[in-house]
Amino acid sequence: MNITARTKICMIIGDPVEHSLSPQMHNAGYEALQIDDQFVYLASRVNVNDIADFIKGIRAMHIRGISCTIPHKIAVIPYLDKIDAVAKKIGAVNTIVNDEGKLIGYNTDWLGILVPLEKHITLQNKTVALIGAGGAARAAAFAVTKKGAKLAIYNRTIKKAKELAKEFNGEAYSLDEIQNVKSADIIINTTSIGLKQKNKTPIPKKYISNKQIIFDAVYDSEESRLIKEAKKQDAQTISGIEMLLHQGFAQFRLFTGYEAPIDIMRKAIT
Ligand code: NAP
Repeated sequence: MNITARTKICMIIGDPVEHSLSPQMHNAGYEALQIDDQFVYLASRVNVNDIADFIKGIRAMHIRGISCTIPHKIAVIPYLDKIDAVAKKIGAVNTIVNDEGKLIGYNTDWLGILVPLEKHITLQNKTVALIGAGGAARAAAFAVTKKGAKLAIYNRTIKKAKELAKEFNGEAYSLDEIQNVKSADIIINTTSIGLKQKNKTPIPKKYISNKQIIFDAVYDSEESRLIKEAKKQDAQTISGIEMLLHQGFAQFRLFTGYEAPIDIMRKAIT
């Protein structure tokens, strides 16, 4: 361990946060680049009602970088000094950089969606069924529409699906109309179904086919039920681990100024 009194703290906040693999991923990167005397990465469960106090803590303790996960990505925005243009368009912040006392909000989740998807498919004119309308869904909507895909959003709270659809020129559906996903080229799950209730899936297996790509943003040590069932249907699959890695590589650069050691960070969490 190379931590000294000069080591800068980076951390992830969420509620829950204990499932997060970000500490292993980032710390493995620091060690590989021999900057583990400069940076250390921790995790903290923060209640969303305490977010204002937590932001005061960042400033008081000069914490260098924060990764925000559920349910903080939208809640942190009013407390930051500056929001970068992409994060503003997405409407969610998953990365905060403390630049000498100025807190700047970024979003790298969209790269976590885009980079793995583009390894499988060219998005131009493809149809995407996006399940969920929270922070991760906003990043996914930005990523796929930026590359010319057509978007249909399905959400439990239809009002939120409609708002997101309006911003990204898509269609909005309730979860009662989930059978429509059958015709999509790509299905992306960004709900937390499968995170808290591990035996649940947002999409019945019968609506998944071998012509589709199924991307589940949820990640865990085990494969999600959605990914398991998609494999049984011979669909191409992308797990939340890929999203975690690619949003994390971009975040690593923002926190440290160094390019992420991709292979080592991948090995640390897979
Ligand atoms: P969020 O902003 O709180 O959004 C949660 C979404 O899930 C909303 O659309 C919500 O619907 C829906 N939802 C929650 N419980 C539901 C239920 N029981 N039935 C139906 N819908 C439900 O959260 P987020 O930040 O977007 O994160 C969503 C998921 O993506 C989490 O599991 C998170 O871990 C994962 N994620 C993974 C990565 C990665 O790197 N792999 C990155 C970002 C996020 P309502 O609008 O109706 O409440």
